[in-house]
Amino acid sequence: MSKVADTTRVLLGAEPALRRMLNYWIATALLYLAGILLLAGQVAWGHAPRQPALLLGATAAAGTLTFYVLIRFSAALGLAPATLAMLQSLFAIGCGMASYAIAGPMRAALLCMTVVIVAFCAVALRARQTMFVSAFALAGMGGVMWWLQAHDPLRYPPAVEAMNFGYMAAALLSTALLSSEMTKLRRRMQHKKQELEQALETIRTLATIDELTTLANRRHMNALLSAEERRQPPGARSCVALLDLDYFKQVNDRHGHALGDAVLREFAHAARGALRTNDTLARWGGEEFLLLLPDAAPQDAQRVLERMAERVHALRVEGLDPAWRISFSAGLAARRDGEPFTEAINRADKALYRAKAAGRDRIELA
Ligand code: GH3
Ligand code: MG
Ligand code: MG
Repeated sequence: MSKVADTTRVLLGAEPALRRMLNYWIATALLYLAGILLLAGQVAWGHAPRQPALLLGATAAAGTLTFYVLIRFSAALGLAPATLAMLQSLFAIGCGMASYAIAGPMRAALLCMTVVIVAFCAVALRARQTMFVSAFALAGMGGVMWWLQAHDPLRYPPAVEAMNFGYMAAALLSTALLSSEMTKLRRRMQHKKQELEQALETIRTLATIDELTTLANRRHMNALLSAEERRQPPGARSCVALLDLDYFKQVNDRHGHALGDAVLREFAHAARGALRTNDTLARWGGEEFLLLLPDAAPQDAQRVLERMAERVHALRVEGLDPAWRISFSAGLAARRDGEPFTEAINRADKALYRAKAAGRDRIELA
């Protein structure tokens, strides 16, 4: 099983875009194979000359293999997918022209192949490029038809060639139009997909942040705590701290809820500035915040909280009584080996209670 997988990997590569291109290549290779077999049948029944048919069959086979190599190593060769698709289309039309020239009475049946080529273009090329390939097919096949009726009008009556050209032109034109509609549709779908991805990203962000303070929200903090519990090797230490603004109710009562909100926002901004890179501060609820400090010893955590307190003391919020000093009390707990974070937070909560009871604006260790 793994040998099959290895061989597929060598032949088709590992990159999804390359695999997709080579899958298309397989489809075209099968089409060439069908064409070569039908040509062999025509030769066997005496409807096509042997030498030119052999030459055309060999050219088609060699071209198909060459395109495999070009696609497989397109990245190294610097060939863009659209360039390759264009070259393949032009080569296929060339083969179609040669087939038409040697197919004798079977030639009209071959015209459907030109339509198939244009349909393939629709998948890989832009609408304008598909139009170019259609025009090239029309001019090339038209040229062959004109040449045949001019040089051998008995085998290739001008009226028959004109009718063949008319049918082919109608089929090619409608296929090209349809394919350009398909291209537009695909573009619209891609655009919608991008919009959806952006919306999903926004939803993900909104689901993790607190709207008022733009800190992490409680749900996100819980996810971080679980991840941290799984991540931490035995013996590693982290700290958690519960913070609660002091006398915050008075801010609301004296200045109104809107100013209370402004204080919360300013507090979050100032507190965030004191964090280390891996620390996370979350709004745990109301005017209570939870700080997670991974891989921190209690004295490191204490330093972070002291830095935070300094910044918060220096806060000046417009509309707030200038004599009012914004402060917080904190309970700090170092997580014990293997202890669930919920327990450490409980201890931090008790320490916070002690900090409040001891007069506020202080940090108590659990
Ligand atoms: P202590 O020092 O004991 O913590 O006193 P406190 O007044 O801060 O404590 P208390 O828990 O009594 O009051 C917290 C207040 O926080 C009550 C509530 O109205 C207010 N609050 C909670 N969430 C918000 C919010 O989102 N915006 C505003 N403006 N106020 C909030
Ligand atoms: Mg509170
Ligand atoms: Mg409070």
